[in-house]
Amino acid sequence: MAQIPSLEILIEQFRKLPGVGRRSAERMAYSILDYSKEEAELFARAITEAKENIHRCNNCFNFSEDEKCPICTNEDRDRSIICVVEDARDITSLEKVKEYHGLYHVIGGTISPMNGVGPEELNIRELLLRLSSGEVKELIIATNPTVEGETTALYISKLVKPLGIKVSRLAYGMPVGGELDHADEVTLLRAMEGRREL
Ligand code: ZN
Repeated sequence: MAQIPSLEILIEQFRKLPGVGRRSAERMAYSILDYSKEEAELFARAITEAKENIHRCNNCFNFSEDEKCPICTNEDRDRSIICVVEDARDITSLEKVKEYHGLYHVIGGTISPMNGVGPEELNIRELLLRLSSGEVKELIIATNPTVEGETTALYISKLVKPLGIKVSRLAYGMPVGGELDHADEVTLLRAMEGRREL
């Protein structure tokens, strides 16, 4: 197509983004060519600075620019509830609901023997460490309603229940196999309100 090496490289970079096909990638690349030098530098810097500045919260593994994320440091959050999610992106979805005021814990995936992911590959040890403080009274497990998500929820539940902590699971009004970050706010609100004890 383009035959212009630098343009082709730019198109390929956009194509790597989720949901971007060749045509959209071309449109994006051409619009970058219309940018002023300053605008283009701002765009490039936004990418490198995000990569340099954003790390994992050392408490909950959410994304953060500081040692602890804004949710963990927020004094108004209810420290007696932790919601367990697979991915930090799920926090964004749940925060949109505005119904939940507790803390989070990102485990970083699901137990999946097929893909060689065991419990020790996830941030489950760190979760248990947080629970050992005695401050937490309820754990809401919000892993996705997939086979792996259910397996992981049960695994965590078995570990946590003997500690005398209430363990509940989101009541998904969404199809099994659906993903949390695709659920709309009403569905998530219902899921949160209708959570059932495990
Ligand atoms: Zn945090």
